[in-house]
Amino acid sequence: MKRLIDKLEKNKFLEKDEYVFLLNNYNAEISEYLFNKARSVSQRYFGNKIYIRGLIEFTNYCRNDCLYCGIRISNKNSERYRLSREEILDCCKKGYELGFRTFVLQGGEDLTYSVEDMVDIIREIRKGYPDCAITLSIGERSFEDYLEFYKAGANRYLLRHETANSDHYSKLHTKDQSLMKRKQCLYDLKKIGYQVGTGFMVGSPYQTSEHLAEDLLFIHELQPAMVGIGPFIPHKDTPFKDFQQGKLELTLFLIGILRLMIPNGLIPSTTALGTINPKGRELGILAGANVVMPNLSPVNVRKKYMLYDNKICTGEEAAECRMCLQYRIRNIGYEIVVDRGDFKPLEITG
Ligand code: SAM
Repeated sequence: MKRLIDKLEKNKFLEKDEYVFLLNNYNAEISEYLFNKARSVSQRYFGNKIYIRGLIEFTNYCRNDCLYCGIRISNKNSERYRLSREEILDCCKKGYELGFRTFVLQGGEDLTYSVEDMVDIIREIRKGYPDCAITLSIGERSFEDYLEFYKAGANRYLLRHETANSDHYSKLHTKDQSLMKRKQCLYDLKKIGYQVGTGFMVGSPYQTSEHLAEDLLFIHELQPAMVGIGPFIPHKDTPFKDFQQGKLELTLFLIGILRLMIPNGLIPSTTALGTINPKGRELGILAGANVVMPNLSPVNVRKKYMLYDNKICTGEEAAECRMCLQYRIRNIGYEIVVDRGDFKPLEITG
């Protein structure tokens, strides 16, 4: 297994059966071997810097019915909210003062915000904060919409592919959703010039090691700037309420693999990871992650953006979250930086 990890480090790529072998046979010793390598690769490209992204969860209305998600349209227990343009701008203002230089606008697929509304919000943020990156994570839209948002000043887009196996995709989603459409969106975004992030849930219902290997192959093909993964966590009001949550060890192992695959990539240590283990986000960084995404949403809406049960950080003000993370990160020898933290191609990073 060490030989395969050495090969992955050298080639940034393995064959499907090699990934499957690793995923089926890894143990604590191999994980440590992988994490040591992943940490030194991170160190080489980023030193001990950890980038922060201010997450603004601006709407929990969604037209989709993804079977795993707490804000799916058919969850009638979800108390819905939308932030106004002014409320979003206020989050950015607070975030800027706290040292955030990336704002991530995330939400369900809520078409009440028309293209014009989104363009207006993006332009205002761009005007007020010319030195900041604007990331969108608002799901599937047309090429033309993505282009309008880009022209208005958005720089990055997060759209997890969720699973790269179309049979598995159909078990997690409804008939009107398809992997092909999801992938097309990712290629459209890349073509337009966004720094694109994708990713998947670890331990989602019906997932196998083969599926995970296909995820890794797809990521190699797409060559995204960012990859966000986190454990699947059941939500009590979804059809998947009785499924087990994803495993910490497997999520960390996959973060390590991703770091060797994309040495210069932006890999968040996610809130979901922090939800399944009190030290989850620290462990994610020690496995090779280099980004954290604290919440900038107003406290009164935090609990309503409940994608899964027991989500952490739903009670604190943005400033408290920022301080708490800074403390946690310092404790493991890393440092949060005031920086946009853009993706730098390998030719530039050397
Ligand atoms: N609507 C946008 C989209 O589809 O990309 C962004 C919002 S969506 C809620 C953000 C991510 O939350 C999804 O890509 C999914 O991977 C994750 N998510 C949803 N439900 C989850 C669950 N039960 N456990 C872990 N992650 C979940």
